[in-house]
Amino acid sequence: MSDPRIRAIPDIHGHAKGEHRPFAEERPIAYSARMLFLWFYHACTRGWPRFLMVADHVNFLTFEDPGAVSTVRRALKLAEAADLYGAAETAGVDVGHAAVVSEALHRGMRFSIGIEVDTDPRSRPDAQNIIDAMRPDGLIRSVHFLTIDHPEKGADWPWPFDNPEFAELFGTVGTDRTWEMYVAKLLDEVEKLPGQIVGHFYVPARFGHWPEHKKLEGYEERVLDACVRRGMAIEFNTRFLYRDHPEDQKKRYLDAYKRLLKKARAKGVPVSVGSDAHSPKDQGGAFDVALQVLDVCGINELVFPVNGRLARVALRATREHLEKIKRHPERTHAPGSSITGLGRAELGLPEEVAGPRALRPGGARAQRPSSPKRAPKPPRAKPLRTSKPLRPTKKASPKRRPVTKKQSKRKVAAKRAAKPKKLARKPLRKRAPALLRKRKSTKKKAAKRRR
Ligand SMILES: [Zn+2]
Ligand SMILES: [Zn+2]
Repeated sequence: MSDPRIRAIPDIHGHAKGEHRPFAEERPIAYSARMLFLWFYHACTRGWPRFLMVADHVNFLTFEDPGAVSTVRRALKLAEAADLYGAAETAGVDVGHAAVVSEALHRGMRFSIGIEVDTDPRSRPDAQNIIDAMRPDGLIRSVHFLTIDHPEKGADWPWPFDNPEFAELFGTVGTDRTWEMYVAKLLDEVEKLPGQIVGHFYVPARFGHWPEHKKLEGYEERVLDACVRRGMAIEFNTRFLYRDHPEDQKKRYLDAYKRLLKKARAKGVPVSVGSDAHSPKDQGGAFDVALQVLDVCGINELVFPVNGRLARVALRATREHLEKIKRHPERTHAPGSSITGLGRAELGLPEEVAGPRALRPGGARAQRPSSPKRAPKPPRAKPLRTSKPLRPTKKASPKRRPVTKKQSKRKVAAKRAAKPKKLARKPLRKRAPALLRKRKSTKKKAAKRRR
Protein backbone atom coordinates (compact mmCIF):
# COMPACT_ATOMS: atom_id res chain seq x y z
CA MET A 1 0.00 0.00 0.00
CA SER A 2 1.31 3.43 -0.79
CA ASP A 3 2.22 5.72 2.07
CA PRO A 4 -0.89 7.56 3.36
CA ARG A 5 1.22 10.66 3.84
CA ILE A 6 1.36 11.22 0.06
CA ARG A 7 -2.28 12.27 0.12
CA ALA A 8 -1.62 14.68 2.96
CA ILE A 9 1.05 16.68 1.13
CA PRO A 10 -0.52 20.08 0.42
CA ASP A 11 -0.31 21.03 -3.26
CA ILE A 12 0.23 24.78 -3.40
CA HIS A 13 0.67 25.26 -7.13
CA GLY A 14 -1.82 24.60 -9.94
CA HIS A 15 -3.24 26.35 -12.99
CA ALA A 16 -6.98 26.00 -13.53
CA LYS A 17 -6.64 28.17 -16.63
CA GLY A 18 -4.98 25.25 -18.35
CA GLU A 19 -1.90 24.31 -20.31
CA HIS A 20 0.30 26.92 -21.94
CA ARG A 21 -0.41 27.62 -25.60
CA PRO A 22 2.06 28.75 -28.25
CA PHE A 23 3.53 31.99 -26.90
CA ALA A 24 2.06 34.26 -29.57
CA GLU A 25 -1.42 32.85 -28.98
CA GLU A 26 -1.52 33.24 -25.21
CA ARG A 27 -4.27 35.55 -24.02
CA PRO A 28 -5.73 36.43 -20.63
CA ILE A 29 -8.33 33.87 -19.61
CA ALA A 30 -11.20 34.78 -17.31
CA TYR A 31 -11.92 32.66 -14.26
CA SER A 32 -15.43 31.41 -13.79
CA ALA A 33 -16.74 30.04 -10.53
CA ARG A 34 -17.48 26.79 -12.39
CA MET A 35 -13.89 26.48 -13.64
CA LEU A 36 -12.50 26.86 -10.14
CA PHE A 37 -15.11 24.63 -8.52
CA LEU A 38 -14.40 21.86 -11.02
CA TRP A 39 -10.65 22.23 -10.48
CA PHE A 40 -11.27 21.37 -6.83
CA TYR A 41 -13.89 18.77 -7.76
CA HIS A 42 -11.27 16.70 -9.60
CA ALA A 43 -9.11 16.58 -6.49
CA CYS A 44 -12.21 15.58 -4.51
CA THR A 45 -13.00 12.63 -6.78
CA ARG A 46 -9.40 11.46 -6.30
CA GLY A 47 -9.60 12.15 -2.57
CA TRP A 48 -6.35 14.10 -2.50
CA PRO A 49 -4.26 16.29 -2.37
CA ARG A 50 -6.00 17.02 0.86
CA PHE A 51 -5.00 20.70 0.73
CA LEU A 52 -4.95 22.29 -2.69
CA MET A 53 -4.21 25.82 -3.81
CA VAL A 54 -4.92 26.98 -7.32
CA ALA A 55 -2.49 29.72 -8.41
CA ASP A 56 -2.75 30.95 -11.96
CA HIS A 57 -0.28 33.26 -13.66
CA VAL A 58 -0.71 36.94 -13.01
CA ASN A 59 -0.53 37.58 -16.78
CA PHE A 60 -3.77 35.67 -17.25
CA LEU A 61 -5.72 37.76 -14.74
CA THR A 62 -8.87 39.48 -15.89
CA PHE A 63 -11.39 41.84 -14.35
CA GLU A 64 -13.82 38.93 -14.00
CA ASP A 65 -11.50 37.01 -11.70
CA PRO A 66 -12.21 38.62 -8.31
CA GLY A 67 -15.94 38.10 -8.83
CA ALA A 68 -15.49 34.47 -9.83
CA VAL A 69 -13.20 33.85 -6.87
CA SER A 70 -15.62 35.28 -4.34
CA THR A 71 -18.47 33.33 -5.96
CA VAL A 72 -16.62 30.04 -5.76
CA ARG A 73 -15.66 30.75 -2.15
CA ARG A 74 -19.36 31.20 -1.40
CA ALA A 75 -20.19 28.01 -3.28
CA LEU A 76 -17.59 26.09 -1.25
CA LYS A 77 -19.11 27.43 1.98
CA LEU A 78 -22.54 26.24 0.84
CA ALA A 79 -21.12 22.85 -0.11
CA GLU A 80 -19.52 22.62 3.31
CA ALA A 81 -22.88 23.39 4.90
CA ALA A 82 -24.32 20.50 2.84
CA ASP A 83 -26.48 22.91 0.82
CA LEU A 84 -25.87 21.03 -2.41
CA TYR A 85 -28.44 22.87 -4.51
CA GLY A 86 -27.18 26.24 -3.29
CA ALA A 87 -23.59 25.30 -4.02
CA ALA A 88 -24.43 23.90 -7.46
CA GLU A 89 -26.46 26.95 -8.43
CA THR A 90 -23.84 29.38 -7.15
CA ALA A 91 -20.91 27.72 -8.91
CA GLY A 92 -22.87 26.79 -12.04
CA VAL A 93 -22.18 23.07 -11.67
CA ASP A 94 -24.32 19.94 -11.33
CA VAL A 95 -25.64 18.88 -7.95
CA GLY A 96 -23.55 15.73 -8.37
CA HIS A 97 -20.39 17.85 -8.51
CA ALA A 98 -21.47 19.76 -5.43
CA ALA A 99 -22.17 16.49 -3.59
CA VAL A 100 -18.66 15.19 -4.27
CA VAL A 101 -17.06 18.45 -3.12
CA SER A 102 -19.32 18.65 -0.08
CA GLU A 103 -18.40 15.12 0.94
CA ALA A 104 -14.70 15.89 0.48
CA LEU A 105 -14.94 19.05 2.58
CA HIS A 106 -16.51 17.00 5.35
CA ARG A 107 -13.60 14.60 5.14
CA GLY A 108 -11.32 17.58 5.76
CA MET A 109 -10.15 18.67 2.33
CA ARG A 110 -9.40 22.36 2.08
CA PHE A 111 -8.93 24.68 -0.89
CA SER A 112 -7.09 27.95 -1.28
CA ILE A 113 -6.96 30.39 -4.15
CA GLY A 114 -3.67 32.13 -4.77
CA ILE A 115 -1.69 33.67 -7.61
CA GLU A 116 1.66 32.92 -9.24
CA VAL A 117 3.22 36.35 -9.54
CA ASP A 118 5.88 36.00 -12.21
CA THR A 119 7.77 38.67 -14.08
CA ASP A 120 5.63 38.47 -17.20
CA PRO A 121 5.65 41.79 -19.09
CA ARG A 122 2.25 40.85 -20.51
CA SER A 123 0.62 41.32 -17.10
CA ARG A 124 -1.99 44.04 -17.06
CA PRO A 125 -0.71 47.37 -15.71
CA ASP A 126 -3.61 47.33 -13.24
CA ALA A 127 -2.94 43.75 -12.17
CA GLN A 128 -2.30 44.87 -8.60
CA ASN A 129 -5.87 46.18 -8.29
CA ILE A 130 -7.22 42.83 -9.44
CA ILE A 131 -4.93 40.98 -7.04
CA ASP A 132 -6.12 43.15 -4.16
CA ALA A 133 -9.75 42.53 -5.07
CA MET A 134 -9.18 38.76 -5.24
CA ARG A 135 -7.84 38.59 -1.70
CA PRO A 136 -5.56 35.67 -2.60
CA ASP A 137 -4.75 33.09 0.06
CA GLY A 138 -1.15 33.08 -1.08
CA LEU A 139 1.29 34.59 -3.56
CA ILE A 140 3.95 32.49 -5.25
CA ARG A 141 6.88 34.62 -6.36
CA SER A 142 8.58 33.31 -9.49
CA VAL A 143 10.64 34.50 -12.41
CA HIS A 144 9.73 33.51 -15.97
CA PHE A 145 11.22 36.44 -17.92
CA LEU A 146 14.68 37.99 -18.09
CA THR A 147 15.52 41.23 -19.87
CA ILE A 148 18.24 40.57 -22.46
CA ASP A 149 19.77 42.08 -25.56
CA HIS A 150 18.17 40.04 -28.30
CA PRO A 151 20.44 39.42 -31.34
CA GLU A 152 17.70 40.56 -33.74
CA LYS A 153 15.00 42.23 -31.68
CA GLY A 154 17.39 44.53 -29.87
CA ALA A 155 17.93 45.69 -26.31
CA ASP A 156 15.61 45.20 -23.34
CA TRP A 157 13.86 42.22 -24.80
CA PRO A 158 11.83 40.15 -22.30
CA TRP A 159 13.05 36.58 -22.73
CA PRO A 160 10.75 33.78 -21.53
CA PHE A 161 13.78 31.62 -20.79
CA ASP A 162 11.93 28.50 -19.64
CA ASN A 163 9.67 28.44 -22.70
CA PRO A 164 10.83 25.76 -25.20
CA GLU A 165 10.03 28.13 -28.07
CA PHE A 166 12.83 30.44 -26.93
CA ALA A 167 15.26 27.90 -25.47
CA GLU A 168 17.86 28.39 -28.21
CA LEU A 169 18.63 31.82 -26.74
CA PHE A 170 20.58 30.04 -24.01
CA GLY A 171 23.20 29.74 -26.75
CA THR A 172 23.39 33.53 -27.03
CA VAL A 173 23.06 34.50 -23.38
CA GLY A 174 24.95 31.57 -21.88
CA THR A 175 24.11 29.42 -18.87
CA ASP A 176 26.18 31.39 -16.34
CA ARG A 177 24.83 34.78 -17.36
CA THR A 178 21.27 33.43 -17.38
CA TRP A 179 21.61 32.13 -13.82
CA GLU A 180 23.26 35.35 -12.65
CA MET A 181 20.43 37.46 -14.06
CA TYR A 182 17.81 35.01 -12.83
CA VAL A 183 19.02 34.98 -9.23
CA ALA A 184 19.42 38.78 -9.20
CA LYS A 185 15.86 39.21 -10.47
CA LEU A 186 14.44 36.65 -8.06
CA LEU A 187 16.22 38.23 -5.08
CA ASP A 188 14.96 41.64 -6.13
CA GLU A 189 11.38 40.35 -6.30
CA VAL A 190 11.60 38.52 -3.00
CA GLU A 191 13.18 41.46 -1.16
CA LYS A 192 10.88 44.18 -2.45
CA LEU A 193 7.50 42.64 -3.19
CA PRO A 194 4.92 40.82 -1.12
CA GLY A 195 4.66 37.03 -1.28
CA GLN A 196 4.56 33.85 0.78
CA ILE A 197 6.41 31.28 -1.34
CA VAL A 198 9.37 31.33 -3.72
CA GLY A 199 8.34 29.23 -6.71
CA HIS A 200 10.37 26.65 -8.66
CA PHE A 201 13.88 27.91 -7.87
CA TYR A 202 15.56 25.59 -10.42
CA VAL A 203 13.46 26.70 -13.40
CA PRO A 204 16.47 27.93 -15.48
CA ALA A 205 17.73 24.31 -15.49
CA ARG A 206 14.59 23.12 -17.27
CA PHE A 207 16.53 22.30 -20.45
CA GLY A 208 19.61 21.04 -18.61
CA HIS A 209 21.40 24.37 -18.16
CA TRP A 210 23.01 23.95 -14.76
CA PRO A 211 25.60 26.45 -13.52
CA GLU A 212 28.88 25.38 -11.96
CA HIS A 213 28.24 23.57 -8.69
CA LYS A 214 29.90 26.11 -6.39
CA LYS A 215 28.02 28.99 -7.97
CA LEU A 216 24.71 27.13 -7.67
CA GLU A 217 25.36 26.49 -3.98
CA GLY A 218 25.98 30.19 -3.53
CA TYR A 219 22.71 31.06 -5.28
CA GLU A 220 20.82 28.60 -3.09
CA GLU A 221 22.26 30.20 0.05
CA ARG A 222 21.38 33.70 -1.05
CA VAL A 223 17.80 32.89 -1.97
CA LEU A 224 17.22 30.93 1.25
CA ASP A 225 18.70 33.79 3.30
CA ALA A 226 16.29 36.15 1.56
CA CYS A 227 13.47 33.77 2.49
CA VAL A 228 14.59 33.94 6.13
CA ARG A 229 14.60 37.74 6.05
CA ARG A 230 11.19 37.93 4.42
CA GLY A 231 9.53 35.05 6.27
CA MET A 232 8.85 33.24 3.01
CA ALA A 233 8.73 29.55 2.21
CA ILE A 234 10.49 27.74 -0.62
CA GLU A 235 8.61 25.53 -3.07
CA PHE A 236 9.61 22.01 -4.03
CA ASN A 237 8.17 22.00 -7.56
CA THR A 238 7.47 18.48 -8.85
CA ARG A 239 6.39 19.31 -12.43
CA PHE A 240 9.79 18.40 -13.88
CA LEU A 241 9.48 14.92 -12.36
CA TYR A 242 6.23 13.84 -14.04
CA ARG A 243 6.89 15.51 -17.39
CA ASP A 244 8.89 14.11 -20.25
CA HIS A 245 12.50 14.78 -19.28
CA PRO A 246 15.62 12.58 -19.45
CA GLU A 247 16.13 10.39 -16.39
CA ASP A 248 19.63 11.71 -15.73
CA GLN A 249 18.22 15.25 -15.65
CA LYS A 250 15.50 14.17 -13.25
CA LYS A 251 18.14 12.68 -10.97
CA ARG A 252 20.15 15.88 -11.09
CA TYR A 253 17.01 17.88 -10.34
CA LEU A 254 16.20 15.67 -7.35
CA ASP A 255 19.75 15.88 -6.02
CA ALA A 256 19.56 19.66 -6.25
CA TYR A 257 16.26 19.73 -4.34
CA LYS A 258 17.59 17.37 -1.68
CA ARG A 259 20.41 19.84 -1.07
CA LEU A 260 18.14 22.90 -1.17
CA LEU A 261 15.55 21.44 1.20
CA LYS A 262 18.18 20.26 3.67
CA LYS A 263 19.58 23.78 3.70
CA ALA A 264 16.07 25.20 4.06
CA ARG A 265 15.46 22.97 7.05
CA ALA A 266 18.75 24.01 8.65
CA LYS A 267 17.92 27.70 8.17
CA GLY A 268 14.32 27.29 9.35
CA VAL A 269 12.82 28.18 5.95
CA PRO A 270 9.39 26.55 5.60
CA VAL A 271 8.92 24.17 2.67
CA SER A 272 5.88 23.67 0.48
CA VAL A 273 5.29 21.26 -2.38
CA GLY A 274 3.69 22.23 -5.69
CA SER A 275 2.77 20.01 -8.62
CA ASP A 276 2.45 23.06 -10.90
CA ALA A 277 -0.40 21.13 -12.54
CA HIS A 278 -1.86 22.73 -15.66
CA SER A 279 -4.45 19.97 -15.91
CA PRO A 280 -6.41 18.28 -13.09
CA LYS A 281 -4.78 14.93 -13.84
CA ASP A 282 -1.43 16.39 -12.72
CA GLN A 283 -2.62 17.55 -9.29
CA GLY A 284 -0.31 15.94 -6.75
CA GLY A 285 1.93 14.74 -9.61
CA ALA A 286 5.07 12.89 -8.46
CA PHE A 287 4.19 13.47 -4.81
CA ASP A 288 5.34 9.91 -4.10
CA VAL A 289 8.82 10.95 -5.20
CA ALA A 290 8.47 14.22 -3.28
CA LEU A 291 7.75 12.28 -0.10
CA GLN A 292 10.94 10.25 -0.52
CA VAL A 293 12.90 13.49 -0.83
CA LEU A 294 11.18 14.99 2.21
CA ASP A 295 12.05 11.86 4.20
CA VAL A 296 15.68 12.02 3.12
CA CYS A 297 15.74 15.68 4.25
CA GLY A 298 13.98 14.90 7.54
CA ILE A 299 11.08 17.21 6.74
CA ASN A 300 7.73 16.30 8.24
CA GLU A 301 6.10 19.69 8.24
CA LEU A 302 4.98 21.57 5.12
CA VAL A 303 3.24 24.88 4.70
CA PHE A 304 -0.01 25.77 2.97
CA PRO A 305 -1.26 29.33 2.38
CA VAL A 306 -4.57 30.28 3.97
CA ASN A 307 -5.75 33.89 4.12
CA GLY A 308 -2.30 35.23 3.32
CA ARG A 309 -0.68 33.22 6.09
CA LEU A 310 1.32 30.01 5.99
CA ALA A 311 -0.45 27.23 7.85
CA ARG A 312 1.78 24.34 8.84
CA VAL A 313 0.74 20.79 8.02
CA ALA A 314 2.32 17.82 9.81
CA LEU A 315 2.52 14.71 7.64
CA ARG A 316 3.61 11.89 9.90
CA ALA A 317 1.10 9.31 10.94
CA THR A 318 2.07 7.52 14.13
CA ARG A 319 1.71 3.75 14.57
CA GLU A 320 -1.24 4.44 16.85
CA HIS A 321 -2.92 6.37 14.05
CA LEU A 322 -2.26 3.69 11.44
CA GLU A 323 -3.70 1.03 13.74
CA LYS A 324 -6.78 3.18 14.22
CA ILE A 325 -7.20 3.34 10.45
CA LYS A 326 -7.06 -0.46 10.33
CA ARG A 327 -9.74 -0.76 12.98
CA HIS A 328 -12.08 1.96 11.70
CA PRO A 329 -11.10 2.86 8.14
CA GLU A 330 -14.28 4.88 7.69
CA ARG A 331 -13.97 6.91 10.86
CA THR A 332 -10.35 8.02 10.93
CA HIS A 333 -8.94 11.29 9.74
CA ALA A 334 -6.18 11.06 7.18
CA PRO A 335 -2.73 12.24 8.17
CA GLY A 336 -2.19 15.93 7.69
CA SER A 337 -5.43 16.91 9.36
CA SER A 338 -3.54 18.78 12.00
CA ILE A 339 -2.63 22.22 10.81
CA THR A 340 -0.72 24.21 13.32
CA GLY A 341 -1.05 27.91 13.69
CA LEU A 342 -4.68 27.99 12.63
CA GLY A 343 -7.82 26.75 14.29
CA ARG A 344 -9.85 24.07 12.56
CA ALA A 345 -12.78 26.46 12.33
CA GLU A 346 -10.58 29.03 10.62
CA LEU A 347 -9.47 26.44 8.12
CA GLY A 348 -13.04 25.49 7.37
CA LEU A 349 -12.36 21.98 8.64
CA PRO A 350 -15.24 20.12 10.20
CA GLU A 351 -15.21 19.79 13.96
CA GLU A 352 -16.62 16.30 13.81
CA VAL A 353 -15.76 13.56 11.35
CA ALA A 354 -18.97 12.94 9.46
CA GLY A 355 -22.06 12.29 11.54
CA PRO A 356 -22.73 15.52 13.41
CA ARG A 357 -21.87 17.65 10.37
CA ALA A 358 -24.56 15.89 8.43
CA LEU A 359 -27.02 17.05 11.08
CA ARG A 360 -26.02 20.66 10.59
CA PRO A 361 -28.89 21.76 8.36
CA GLY A 362 -31.13 21.01 11.35
CA GLY A 363 -29.52 23.92 13.17
CA ALA A 364 -28.14 24.29 16.66
CA ARG A 365 -30.55 21.81 18.17
CA ALA A 366 -29.38 19.06 15.90
CA GLN A 367 -25.82 19.67 17.04
CA ARG A 368 -26.55 19.54 20.70
CA PRO A 369 -26.83 15.76 21.09
CA SER A 370 -23.23 15.43 19.87
CA SER A 371 -22.17 17.43 22.97
CA PRO A 372 -20.13 20.22 21.38
CA LYS A 373 -18.31 20.89 24.66
CA ARG A 374 -16.59 17.53 24.44
CA ALA A 375 -15.93 17.78 20.72
CA PRO A 376 -12.70 19.84 20.89
CA LYS A 377 -10.86 17.25 22.96
CA PRO A 378 -10.89 13.85 21.18
CA PRO A 379 -7.38 12.76 20.29
CA ARG A 380 -8.26 12.68 16.60
CA ALA A 381 -5.65 15.27 15.71
CA LYS A 382 -3.19 14.22 18.41
CA PRO A 383 -1.76 11.03 16.91
CA LEU A 384 -0.65 12.99 13.89
CA ARG A 385 1.57 15.33 15.82
CA THR A 386 4.76 13.96 17.17
CA SER A 387 6.88 16.29 19.22
CA LYS A 388 5.40 19.75 19.51
CA PRO A 389 2.57 20.67 21.85
CA LEU A 390 -0.88 20.54 20.36
CA ARG A 391 -1.38 24.21 19.68
CA PRO A 392 -4.21 24.00 17.17
CA THR A 393 -6.74 22.77 19.70
CA LYS A 394 -5.81 25.58 22.06
CA LYS A 395 -6.15 28.08 19.27
CA ALA A 396 -9.22 26.40 17.97
CA SER A 397 -11.08 26.51 21.25
CA PRO A 398 -11.64 30.27 21.33
CA LYS A 399 -12.88 29.94 17.77
CA ARG A 400 -15.43 27.42 18.90
CA ARG A 401 -16.63 29.47 21.79
CA PRO A 402 -18.52 31.85 19.53
CA VAL A 403 -20.81 28.94 18.67
CA THR A 404 -21.86 28.60 22.29
CA LYS A 405 -21.94 32.38 22.61
CA LYS A 406 -24.26 32.52 19.67
CA GLN A 407 -26.45 29.95 21.32
CA SER A 408 -26.49 31.90 24.56
CA LYS A 409 -27.12 35.07 22.58
CA ARG A 410 -30.14 33.38 21.12
CA LYS A 411 -31.34 32.56 24.60
CA VAL A 412 -30.79 36.14 25.72
CA ALA A 413 -32.57 37.39 22.65
CA ALA A 414 -35.49 35.13 23.43
CA LYS A 415 -35.63 36.44 27.01
CA ARG A 416 -35.41 40.02 25.79
CA ALA A 417 -38.28 39.43 23.48
CA ALA A 418 -40.31 38.30 26.46
CA LYS A 419 -39.29 41.16 28.79
CA PRO A 420 -38.60 44.87 28.22
CA LYS A 421 -34.91 45.34 27.34
CA LYS A 422 -33.63 48.03 29.67
CA LEU A 423 -34.98 46.52 32.84
CA ALA A 424 -33.15 43.29 32.18
CA ARG A 425 -29.82 44.96 31.39
CA LYS A 426 -29.28 47.65 33.99
CA PRO A 427 -29.01 45.61 37.15
CA LEU A 428 -26.55 43.26 35.45
CA ARG A 429 -24.12 46.07 34.61
CA LYS A 430 -24.39 48.05 37.79
CA ARG A 431 -24.16 45.15 40.15
CA ALA A 432 -20.55 44.28 39.41
CA PRO A 433 -18.92 47.67 40.14
CA ALA A 434 -21.12 48.11 43.18
CA LEU A 435 -19.88 44.84 44.60
CA LEU A 436 -16.29 45.89 43.98
CA ARG A 437 -16.87 49.18 45.71
CA LYS A 438 -18.36 47.45 48.68
CA ARG A 439 -15.44 45.08 48.93
CA LYS A 440 -12.99 47.96 48.69
CA SER A 441 -14.81 49.96 51.27
CA THR A 442 -14.94 47.05 53.67
CA LYS A 443 -11.20 46.60 53.17
CA LYS A 444 -10.66 50.29 53.93
CA LYS A 445 -12.80 50.03 57.00
CA ALA A 446 -10.84 47.02 58.12
CA ALA A 447 -7.63 48.93 57.60
CA LYS A 448 -9.00 51.87 59.61
CA ARG A 449 -10.01 49.55 62.40
CA ARG A 450 -6.51 48.14 62.53
CA ARG A 451 -5.17 51.66 62.90
ZN1 LIG B 1 5.89 29.21 -12.94
ZN1 LIG C 1 3.13 27.61 -12.44
